Amino acid sequence: MLYKSTRGKAKYVPSAQAIKNGIAEDGGLYMPESIPSLSIEDIRALCPLSYPERAAKILALFLDDYDKDDLVLDCKAAYSSENFSNGVAPLVFLDDKIRVLELWHGPTCAFKDVALQIMPRLLSRALVMTGEKRRALILVATSGDTGKAALEGYKDVPHTAITVFYPANGVSRAQKAQMITQDGANVNVCAINGNFDDAQTGVKNIFADGELADRLSKKGVFLSSANSINWGRLVPQIIYYISAYCDMIEKDDISLGDTIDICVPTGNFGNILAAYIAKKMGLPVRKLICASNENNVLTDFLQSGTYDKNRIFHNTLSPSMDILISSNLERLISLAAGEEKCSMYMNALSKHGKYTVEPQILELIQKDFEGYYCPEQACLDTIKKCYREHSYLIDTHTAVALYCSDFGKREGTKTLVVSTASPYKFAPAVAKALGLCDKGGDTELFERICELTKVPIPSPLSSVFKKKVRFDEVIDKDSMKDAILRFTESLA
Ligand SMILES: *Cc1c(COP(=O)(O)O)cnc(C)c1O
Repeated sequence: MLYKSTRGKAKYVPSAQAIKNGIAEDGGLYMPESIPSLSIEDIRALCPLSYPERAAKILALFLDDYDKDDLVLDCKAAYSSENFSNGVAPLVFLDDKIRVLELWHGPTCAFKDVALQIMPRLLSRALVMTGEKRRALILVATSGDTGKAALEGYKDVPHTAITVFYPANGVSRAQKAQMITQDGANVNVCAINGNFDDAQTGVKNIFADGELADRLSKKGVFLSSANSINWGRLVPQIIYYISAYCDMIEKDDISLGDTIDICVPTGNFGNILAAYIAKKMGLPVRKLICASNENNVLTDFLQSGTYDKNRIFHNTLSPSMDILISSNLERLISLAAGEEKCSMYMNALSKHGKYTVEPQILELIQKDFEGYYCPEQACLDTIKKCYREHSYLIDTHTAVALYCSDFGKREGTKTLVVSTASPYKFAPAVAKALGLCDKGGDTELFERICELTKVPIPSPLSSVFKKKVRFDEVIDKDSMKDAILRFTESLA
């Protein structure tokens, strides 16, 4: 199977090359030329298997240039019980309709671990498969969750190294502590005097710097990225939707062939796009519910057909979804409208910050998607109500999804609500929602929440404030390039 660009003007490449390239040469995103199908019998056959076994089988459908046994090894290592001590994607039955899919039991307590524990292994093999002799240096600009998950994923992976830039005053205390105490011989973390946009712009400039690329290449290094425009990060996310459906069958919650709804708290549209691909493969899904916070650009798009990023940016209680350009929407547009129109819309987006799809394209998209958004107060109220009614504690991102799932509800259809972070990762907002005092350090907040709810504090978070600080450097935003050169020297 080959991969093509959403904009239709790039060479078709095998999956290893798509994962190595990250982005296609016409500026589009890679998509499989056809989506493999999954019959009801295929789903039945996956049911008795473990998560890593299901993962290897599903990955093999998309990554057919990889050796099947290698995929089995990588899935076993990535999804081991050391990495995911409570299971990779356990289901919680909230009431007679809602099933919560908890995706935050990995090393950094957010759902990005599920993809970032395996993606580095896929890249590492891609380098060997494409005859690449240089080392891949992963550059990440982060507002919090991605940086730490990428560090944990790439630490000590052969043929790779990673540098993460974060805004010195723009991440939560827990997120900062997680990053500056990172272990591993091939990792580097730098705080930037500036905001997230400065870090992001700096990284983009570095990717576009041909002179730097030449200098790095002479030292045996090339630059690569780890965000969800890379197919290697998207494909592992398809697995847990199929796996959750299997688990619902195994638990006699549904019968094989019954349709379910899936509700996903959405920012960059990566996670929900993976659910859409699972549906396209043949997973019996009725509707995908796209849940947004007050940055509701996707809600408006799904209701009106106009995507317009020219609006006020809100800093919300669910910061990992504070985003106005949802990159992965391009993959849906390309599937629905074709590559030529997709290319046209994306040009309009970069020129004018907006585009409107034709009515028949919107109609097609609305067959599969509904969009709703959750205001800030409703987010806090949902955390409180969920805890009061079900003694179940959720974080702010999951609360956005749970709130939105209510609008899309249909008689008799069960809804899978995706839970993307541990409630302890956003402790100040969760404490506030529960009516607890939200003053003091995170360790105190953890204890206060734990005392009330008896929900155990995940060990990666309880220990993080006691770990030794390795990276206390704060650099000017104009010296990011020097930081990379210095780090590259130290690797040799
Ligand atoms: C990244 C993230 C999201 C958004 O996921 P997308 O794939 O960008 O839509 C939601 N919740 C949490 C906790 C995240 O870290």
